[in-house]
Amino acid sequence: MTTLRNLPSVEELLQTKNAAELIAQYGRPLTLSAIRETLGKIRIRFSNGQITALPLHDLILAQTDALLTLWAKPTLRAVVNASGVILHTNLGRAPLSHSAIHAMDLVSRGYSTLEYDLEKGARGSRLIHAEAILQKLTGAESAVVVNNNAAAVMLVLSALANKKRVIISRSELVEIGGGFRIPDVMKQSGAKLVEVGTTNKVHLRDYEEALQEPSALIMRAHRSNFKLIGFTSEPDLKDIATLAHQAGVAIVDDLGSGALYDTEKYGLTHEPTVQEALAAGVDVVCFSGDKLLGGPQAGIIIGKKDLLDKIKKHPLARAVRADKACLAGVTATLLHYLKDEAEREIPILKMMSYTLKQIKGRAEAWRRELGKGEIIEGKSTVGGGSLPDETLPTFLLSLSVESPEKFLQLLRTQNPPIIARTANNKILLDPRTVFPEQEGALLVGLENVLNS
Ligand SMILES: *Cc1c(COP(=O)(O)O)cnc(C)c1O
Repeated sequence: MTTLRNLPSVEELLQTKNAAELIAQYGRPLTLSAIRETLGKIRIRFSNGQITALPLHDLILAQTDALLTLWAKPTLRAVVNASGVILHTNLGRAPLSHSAIHAMDLVSRGYSTLEYDLEKGARGSRLIHAEAILQKLTGAESAVVVNNNAAAVMLVLSALANKKRVIISRSELVEIGGGFRIPDVMKQSGAKLVEVGTTNKVHLRDYEEALQEPSALIMRAHRSNFKLIGFTSEPDLKDIATLAHQAGVAIVDDLGSGALYDTEKYGLTHEPTVQEALAAGVDVVCFSGDKLLGGPQAGIIIGKKDLLDKIKKHPLARAVRADKACLAGVTATLLHYLKDEAEREIPILKMMSYTLKQIKGRAEAWRRELGKGEIIEGKSTVGGGSLPDETLPTFLLSLSVESPEKFLQLLRTQNPPIIARTANNKILLDPRTVFPEQEGALLVGLENVLNS
């Protein structure tokens, strides 16, 4: 009779050629754990009566191999984004320019001047790297880059308004996404939230009344992901800023996306720009590095020197500081704007500026290659919590398939995984967000699924 005693020992399995190959690939300790876990599972299944025969060496090691493959498989993988959402928050927002990638690669590979002053041969500051270029680009007196914009908002409020009143319009008490809520961030920073106006209307006198009591800041938060339409009104930013300054209070603008260019150029509505906020008299502006700017994840804070000095010195600044790769990537991205080459070099801007003819040409080439589908008009979206409801006209390759959900799921199992969307029972693929160098992989993946 077969008993568990017949199961080979770990030592015995380790002597085999198959095990030697696994050790070469995954290292001894991990292979050992995988063999133990595999044997453990076999024992349980045998004792439960789920299996009546014990597997041979080869099969046990094949199971071990499967386990090791699973353990070593990264969960963070590159994908083909055929969804047409340019700043897809779930797909990592902005893809980076070649220069940004190169700059990040260089500082990651070896040592760098992150906190080293080459002239003095002594300790320098990591704060200088992006600062000079931000000053040139925006005219701001001072700047600092942190881990992301949520951290930027938290840091600004903590440094400038702890235990003090911060006045904000009720129409701006927004949730950005992922549970990031402006009122919660204010509470967390120790600022005292003072709401003024109503959800749809806020007047200058609302701010004026709130300023009767000593306050630290007026805060403005970009609504980012929703639109206020109908019976609404808000004072001009410039007037709010003037009022704040008359009362000796600073004004902070959380722009969210922080475009450095006019989005109207791409047929979208106007997104408030960083330059406009400064021109309106805002003292501190913060925005994301990986939304409409098109760089790596970062939070950028710019503005008046005295306020930025306080922000830079606050203990939280250390906790949320940007690392060397981020600083290199942000600086390289900003340089594209300074050199007036952003549209040519920054992928998200390139995607926004494709002509319909270019997009249609690519969709048609895909159809020819596949010998299937039809080209239809559709919409791409900007995404990333910016420009709600705003779309760009596009052309899509539309595929009729038996079960669209099943088809999407199979596309996700391709290597690299392909992310598409469905509408009216059709699979829709938008060339706008697919890099030309990914087209080969996209078509192979599509063929695989179509033929399966
Ligand atoms: C997106 C956004 C944030 C958060 O920025 P992250 O860079 O994602 O941390 C904060 N405020 C506003 C208004 C935003 O749109």
